[in-house]
Amino acid sequence: MQTTKFQKRLFGTNGVRGIVGKDLPPELVVTIGEAFGTMRKGCIAVGRDTRTSGDTLVKAIKSGLLATGCDVVDCGILPTPALQYIIKGRFAGGVMITASHNPPEYNGVKIIEADGTEMGDEETLKLEQLIFDLSFSPKPWEHVGHEVNAPHLIRKYIKSIINHFPHKIGSGMTVVVDPGSGPACLTSPHILTGMGCRVLTLHGVPDGTFPGRLPEPSSQGLKGLAELVVSSGAAFGIAHDGDADRAVFVDENGQFIEENEEFTLVASYICHQEKGAVVTPVSTSLMVEKVVKNEGCTITYTPVGSIYVARTMRSLIENGNTVVFGGEGNGGLIFPRHQFCRDGGMTAAMMVYILASTGEHLSSLVRRIPKRTIIKDKVTTSRGAEVLESLKKEYSYDLLDLTDGVKILREDSWALVRVSGTEPIIRIIVDADSYDYSKEFHEEVMAFIHKITDK
Ligand code: MG
Repeated sequence: MQTTKFQKRLFGTNGVRGIVGKDLPPELVVTIGEAFGTMRKGCIAVGRDTRTSGDTLVKAIKSGLLATGCDVVDCGILPTPALQYIIKGRFAGGVMITASHNPPEYNGVKIIEADGTEMGDEETLKLEQLIFDLSFSPKPWEHVGHEVNAPHLIRKYIKSIINHFPHKIGSGMTVVVDPGSGPACLTSPHILTGMGCRVLTLHGVPDGTFPGRLPEPSSQGLKGLAELVVSSGAAFGIAHDGDADRAVFVDENGQFIEENEEFTLVASYICHQEKGAVVTPVSTSLMVEKVVKNEGCTITYTPVGSIYVARTMRSLIENGNTVVFGGEGNGGLIFPRHQFCRDGGMTAAMMVYILASTGEHLSSLVRRIPKRTIIKDKVTTSRGAEVLESLKKEYSYDLLDLTDGVKILREDSWALVRVSGTEPIIRIIVDADSYDYSKEFHEEVMAFIHKITDK
């Protein structure tokens, strides 16, 4: 099964993003609301992360939706997966105002379909066409929409995760949560407390200036979390990105767990319990495939982007396959029994469940994961398409995977070269079983790329 990427003009892999006051004016957000309201009739749920510009842009999106006759339910501040959970089966669709992991000056718009998944490429192209043509269906005064506030709906999401696991499975476990002043302040501490854990929080007050750390939960920004985990004797620490669809961990010794290792650890546990497919983009480390196959499960690769993972998981299931797990090697994990989107709150809860049921320390579980060396690089060039075409010819004697860019597969190693859809850059990832070979493979591919770009 092949998932194809379409070229979008306004929406990137994660919706529309921009710097507030510069390239994301409220007028644009009003038109997105008018276009979405023209496409989808009925009741639309909206929500936002904690950014200072959130209020302005939520009002803009609601204005467009109401003007085209949609009713609006404003769920207030909440994580993206919480809004997706609330929408599923209850609303005609939804809009999340968020810039996820981007710095505070950014904001963005993410469109959610009635089934709780992000809008796919084909529908997004139709939406973009309406925006560019300014082709909307404004309603007369007696048919404009109505709005209600429903901040309490967030509790449905919290409860659904707690109820997913055995009662008070986390009793006796201390966990440190760093929501990074984002919307997970309102969910993850409650989820983990509801599971019986003793919870300490860091950067636990919603604040769109992000005074404690940036919304990207990088290992450098999590020193405070690591220190608090060690000093409190916690089982682990967890940090979310700016809209809490991702979660990353530090172990009981304060060691940051690389996100591919996190994915592998959870995949290993789930695949040990149940058999089926695991779905992930071509950019995910081979350590996942090794562990998944070792447990008797299969792996399906998709283009890079959680939307492709979620939609492939759904279509595999619709075709009669069993899919047990999915996600990306960046802390964005998808649990199909809960919902088809990356879910940071669910990921936090799953870690409690794994540690409680195995009785093991997080560091010992990580030690069992096959070690790999991953090198990430990028080259600024507008000749991305030419580079890809030349790579295909030059490496035609190697095994190639063309799901997204060019992935050169060699025994126990691979190199992936992709062209960014939004910037004039190409991204290179090398994943190898030894440090020396990763360097050699990386140098070889980079030398070839530079031969073309420096011409
Ligand atoms: Mg995010």
